[in-house]
Amino acid sequence: MDMVEERAVALDLGVQWRNSFARLGPEFYTVLAPRPLTAPYWVGRSAAVARELGLAPSWSDSPGALEAFSGNGPIAGTQPLASVYSGHQFGVWAGQLGDGRALLLGETASGYEVQLKGSGLTPYSRMGDGRAVLRSSIREFLCSEAMQALGVPTSRALCVTGSDDPVRREEIETAAVVTRAAPSFIRFGHFEHFSALGQHGPLKTLADYVIDRFYPECRGCETFGGNPYAALLERVSERTARMIAQWQAVGFCHGVMNTDNMSILGLTIDYGPFQFLDAFDPGHICNHSDQQGRYAYNQQPNVAYWNLYCLGRALLPLIGEEELALAALESYKAVFPAQLAARMRAKLGLLDELPGDLALIESTFQLLARDRVDYPIFWRRLSHWVSRRAQAGAPQPDDSVRDLFLDRPAFDRWLLQYSERIGNTAYGPAGDLMLKTNPKYVLRNHLGEQAIRLAKQKDFSAVHTLQRLLEAPFDEHPGFDSDADFPPEWASTIEISCSS
Ligand code: AMP
Ligand code: MG
Repeated sequence: MDMVEERAVALDLGVQWRNSFARLGPEFYTVLAPRPLTAPYWVGRSAAVARELGLAPSWSDSPGALEAFSGNGPIAGTQPLASVYSGHQFGVWAGQLGDGRALLLGETASGYEVQLKGSGLTPYSRMGDGRAVLRSSIREFLCSEAMQALGVPTSRALCVTGSDDPVRREEIETAAVVTRAAPSFIRFGHFEHFSALGQHGPLKTLADYVIDRFYPECRGCETFGGNPYAALLERVSERTARMIAQWQAVGFCHGVMNTDNMSILGLTIDYGPFQFLDAFDPGHICNHSDQQGRYAYNQQPNVAYWNLYCLGRALLPLIGEEELALAALESYKAVFPAQLAARMRAKLGLLDELPGDLALIESTFQLLARDRVDYPIFWRRLSHWVSRRAQAGAPQPDDSVRDLFLDRPAFDRWLLQYSERIGNTAYGPAGDLMLKTNPKYVLRNHLGEQAIRLAKQKDFSAVHTLQRLLEAPFDEHPGFDSDADFPPEWASTIEISCSS
């Protein structure tokens, strides 16, 4: 069978596809086919995501699947398109952007939009080549599934395929395609786009579409004088607040919180130079291109508000009154601290809520920051300490936690405060909660890096191992302790930039 014939046979995944986004009208997108990659191979696949999408267990068995998910052939029932959006990048209006290397295939009956990322040039590629490299594709694949397992709202990743086709970044790398899925990939930037152009018709079409599909409760609600667009802004603010609280609690830095990377559903999307904290440094900057630290770990909550403010401005032609928009945004300021406190209480094993908790949470952060204590290891060891104490029914040595600190007297003072507080609750349930809240396995930069180095030599075993650990990050996984250990010295020399 020659290439032309092969491309003409569409892969039937046995899925009913829809594309409600395509019905919004041609001003929202450009229809185009993915560009093929030479001799693709599988890098990683997620059975869990395949199930979510309604695919058969054997979905990837045919050579047609490998070709189709590399952009080399059509999938029956899909209509690939690239959408247009705009946005603020690093605080500056960047004008028109859009899906420069992603294509929306359609929506599954189970309610997921499916995209190929890295599938070639689109009208929105600007200076880019439309490609994604193997390195960043593996990072997106692993992190999506890690975040899902941690309970953080996120887009998912079905698979990664690779090819030896060269891609130029700082050096020559190779191409890959990530197939990702989310209920919607609509971004704040989609709204900013039509608003900035003064195209209030499409702006309203888009807002109505998002409300009808995802936020139907915004219609006919009593708040904001019945204004559904103000209600939408409030709901998005709440979801964003929940997501950011989760990021802060798990120690996740996104790295590029531009408004075009902010999901209208409060999902973590567009994994680029992200990082999970090793040492707890509140001012940590994970993106090597972010010289000012605009997106540092401790800036994320404020930046999210700034981004929501941009969304509010974009929606203003629909909302009508500025006061309504500002009132809608207020929910972020209430929900974020409450959600963060709830997350931190769970990390501390606090089963109820007491007035002094906020002070305890704050002093925990300060304690960790002073000695730059390893964030995941501190929480995991503390969880085990509480758990052991419950099992023994008596105080236990705290050396494993104490050893993490240079300033031992400060730790002892903190532990006294903490023990008194947790002494009011049951140690048994607290330990259980902590071991299910504080993961043993986290996608640290160096773990991803090790898997990527092997993958570049076509050995994907470390990708698969990491995937398995990260899909069940609270389990012990005997024999894999080294993947839950401190980062090696060289980890601090890894430089992750916007280049992906
Ligand atoms: P990001 O911040 O990585 O999410 O990307 C910002 C914008 O640049 C989006 O419009 C992307 O589609 C586009 N972009 C990023 N990398 C590429 C690339 N290699 N080729 C084309 N467009 C790209
Ligand atoms: Mg993006």
